[in-house]
Amino acid sequence: MADSIAEHIADTIEAIARAARDADRDPADVKLIAVAKTHGPEAVEAALAAGQRRFGENRVQEAAGKYPQFRAAHPDLELHLIGPLQTNKVRQAIGLFDVIQTVDRPKLAEMLAAEMAAVGRRPRCLIQINTGEEPQKAGIAPAEADGFIADCRDRLGLPVTGLMCIPPADEPPAPHFALLREIARRNNLAELSMGMSADFPIAVALGATAVRVGTAIFGHRPPAATA
Ligand SMILES: *Cc1c(COP(=O)(O)O)cnc(C)c1O
Repeated sequence: MADSIAEHIADTIEAIARAARDADRDPADVKLIAVAKTHGPEAVEAALAAGQRRFGENRVQEAAGKYPQFRAAHPDLELHLIGPLQTNKVRQAIGLFDVIQTVDRPKLAEMLAAEMAAVGRRPRCLIQINTGEEPQKAGIAPAEADGFIADCRDRLGLPVTGLMCIPPADEPPAPHFALLREIARRNNLAELSMGMSADFPIAVALGATAVRVGTAIFGHRPPAATA
């Protein structure tokens, strides 16, 4: 398993580099976030051994059980929360994660600001945009993005560095990536977290600075646990 994870990481990095060069971008400007959700610590360990340092997790509880053991040996490990954050987990999330990619509603933004002040730790924040305006999906509607970003930055003082999106599963992703890029551009935000196993080369072509890749590195997840 460790060998295949190392191989999949190398292949993914190469595919990112190819997509970047094709778009006249520097491959170093695109970071790979390995999404290890549902996979055990041995999968993370194999990825670490292969040199991977950025990881993404969907659930606070799962991350809490999986990463602390690796922090001491790998101080450069960077952990990203890419799943929905409940307000009762905000304090724990601030302690665990280096980046919170799913700031998606005013109440959460308020809690993050208050708890960051209390805890004294300030993980970078990305605003999740619901580019497809899907009712069941988290994220700020595109039309409300500018106002929400300004509120997070100016009133609440959150360290907002970029945007993330998860395009609708049944649509071509390119228009969603382009929309995210445009919202980031006009708000002067540098980080774009977009692209997953099925579409990360397209995301890189459209300006992604971070891609979130799970299946292509760690293999398939049990169907019940994919969310
Ligand atoms: C699971 C997940 C990913 C990784 O998806 P794959 O298709 O397995 O690469 C990326 N982003 C988010 C938000 C996820 O929940």
